[in-house]
Amino acid sequence: MTLKHYAGSCQCGAVTFEAGLDLDRTVTCNCSRCRRVGSILSFAPEAGFTLKSGETALREYRFNTHKVAHLFCASCGIQPFGRGIAPNGDRMVAVNVRCLDGVDLKSLTPHEHDGASA
Ligand SMILES: [Zn+2]
Repeated sequence: MTLKHYAGSCQCGAVTFEAGLDLDRTVTCNCSRCRRVGSILSFAPEAGFTLKSGETALREYRFNTHKVAHLFCASCGIQPFGRGIAPNGDRMVAVNVRCLDGVDLKSLTPHEHDGASA
């Protein structure tokens, strides 16, 4: 596991953040939301994530079990990350790797999570 430090943002730049992530472990998902959004996700403990700007620009959407706050920018609509609780109770942030600076998306090998059947 190799944590690297990344900066990311929404499209319009209202929401900016930094996170320590292991991009050798990424996830795509076929649930009713992810298959539409197209996110590639990488997970960080809440302590490994810093929101630099945009808390007031973020809007929240919850569905199904309502355990995950899917956050999107009210201005540009991009969904840069979500907040949730891991099975062990830890507070986690699911970062949309597509919103990070300087990542070669073609180099990633995401695990396909079957969220539609979960
Ligand atoms: Zn935005």
